[in-house]
Amino acid sequence: MEKQPYRILLFYKFVRIDDPETFTAEHLQYCKDLGVKGRILIASEGINGTLSGTYEQTERYMQALTADPRFADTVFKIDESEEHAFKKIFVRHKEELVTFRYEKELDPNVQFGTRLSPKEFHEQLQKEEVIVLDGRTDYEYDLGHFRGAIRPDIDSFRDFPQWIRDNMSEHKDKTILTYCTGGIRCEKLTGFMLEEGFANVAQLEGGIVTYGKDPEVQGDLFDGKCYVFDERISVPINQVAPSVVGKCYHCDEPTDVYVNCPVCNLQHLVCESCADEHSHYCSDVCKETVTAV
Ligand SMILES: [Zn+2]
Ligand SMILES: [Zn+2]
Repeated sequence: MEKQPYRILLFYKFVRIDDPETFTAEHLQYCKDLGVKGRILIASEGINGTLSGTYEQTERYMQALTADPRFADTVFKIDESEEHAFKKIFVRHKEELVTFRYEKELDPNVQFGTRLSPKEFHEQLQKEEVIVLDGRTDYEYDLGHFRGAIRPDIDSFRDFPQWIRDNMSEHKDKTILTYCTGGIRCEKLTGFMLEEGFANVAQLEGGIVTYGKDPEVQGDLFDGKCYVFDERISVPINQVAPSVVGKCYHCDEPTDVYVNCPVCNLQHLVCESCADEHSHYCSDVCKETVTAV
């Protein structure tokens, strides 16, 4: 395949950052000068980012970041792209890298679920007695997920602690596998579950996107596509037997295209014929607020 002119990076690193506000301001300036676009979060617990740029820009970004000893072993997931995957650059300071409504502090460098390589995860997935829990939200699950995974009925990651307490308590002595897009959410989720008394919790290292690139497993047993937080919206994962698991919001036909309602902003899956029929409106009510004038 011909090399694309742009690349999209996805990365995180849990490491102590003193004075994250100053680091944020400096990092934003650095990114602007370099010309990369995307979204980077910085907290006293580390950095989490996804950005796009030319081959050259992304190469320089990775070199600069890993030249800092704190981020020397940062793992980058790299996708090629025809163009930028973001319109702007945001670098923001936050209290937590992933917002998680939990009263205790979780340090993924201290407490974490067993880290499984794609190959190990693939093997575990096929065992009868394991429970597979999607570590993401409902709308991400609906576009694609590992076969047999439990769908958490939440639309924000911060609601996980309560949802786990309400729905997973009966499985505390079972082996539980979790996964998320790039691995960062599982770092918090598995720490939380261990804290809550779950005996055996394991996470997919590098997340779904790494699993999809693994030359051996090639995304096997992942159904549908993986939701991503950039302009692509979704990326293919399963190279062995690609499938569509999303269902049209209007008619239930299979689709993997997400659109936002121009009126109420509801993100919903829509098939090709319904996209024509309803434009991108989620309902007649929304459609009429525009056409009624
Ligand atoms: Zn439809
Ligand atoms: Zn609407």
